[in-house]
Amino acid sequence: MQCPFLKEARVRWCRAAGIRKPIAESQSDDAACRCLDERFRDCRWVSPEFHEAPPPCPHLEHALVQYCEAAPLTRFVPFSEPLLTRCGTDAHKYCDFYLDLLRAARPPLKDQEFSAPEDLFYTRNHWWIDLQEQGLCHLGADAFLARLLGGVERAGILTPRGTAFPAVVFTCGGTDFTVTFPAQIRIEAANPHLRIEPRRMLREPYSAGWLFRGIIGEGQMRELKESLITASEARRLMEEDARRVNEMLQSLRPAGAVPAMADGGLFEEGLLGLLEPHEALRLFHETGSPAAGQRR
Ligand code: SF4
Repeated sequence: MQCPFLKEARVRWCRAAGIRKPIAESQSDDAACRCLDERFRDCRWVSPEFHEAPPPCPHLEHALVQYCEAAPLTRFVPFSEPLLTRCGTDAHKYCDFYLDLLRAARPPLKDQEFSAPEDLFYTRNHWWIDLQEQGLCHLGADAFLARLLGGVERAGILTPRGTAFPAVVFTCGGTDFTVTFPAQIRIEAANPHLRIEPRRMLREPYSAGWLFRGIIGEGQMRELKESLITASEARRLMEEDARRVNEMLQSLRPAGAVPAMADGGLFEEGLLGLLEPHEALRLFHETGSPAAGQRR
């Protein structure tokens, strides 16, 4: 499905002028435009051999173009160029311009929330994947993993492009945690905002916080789908793992109060950065690591 903000227009521009400046025909005042009637002969850009030509000016070009209605600056893209992948497919849901206007479609997570949008698939080690048309996909961390990693200090993309198991290393409390999608895909890009604002990204894990965009080959799709779980299974798994985290916290700190438990019994956001490194690594290994996913 194409982005609702992708629009089409007919534009015209002058081939002879020093700067090419397309003007949407719907926005132009034809009566005031000298290119369309005899006045074009007075224009300094007109070649001498066209001075006797009938209007409109022979230098005037027309084209069908596309543009983004949500972008702050309008840039016309010729229709003859292939449709921009992002704008012409479901990938538009992860565009910053689209999200700025329609953030309500996938709002930031509230505290105490393990949501899982129904239109996504999930892995058993807490990734989501949006399977789109023509093998395109976006993927990222689910709400559980986002909560564990919430206080992240740094994020480093380990697999920026090419065929690989998509992986990101998050640094929390000075300790590195590598989160890895459990299947190979052809990675086209990693989210460029991740390095700059990793915390904000984890507050919107299902939209602005996507981690990778890629392509899944036809032969690979069936096998991948068999390994994925639905949104309701993912919610159940997040709740189970939240209970498992609480039990581990109780066993790690049996003598006193557990320092990393929020009101309501749910573990604190950014828990991995609040524990001792060996405790945090053990907890991550049991819930968010690829090995944890394989055990289920
Ligand atoms: S740039 Fe973004 S908001 Fe604009 S048309 Fe493309 S996908 Fe939609």
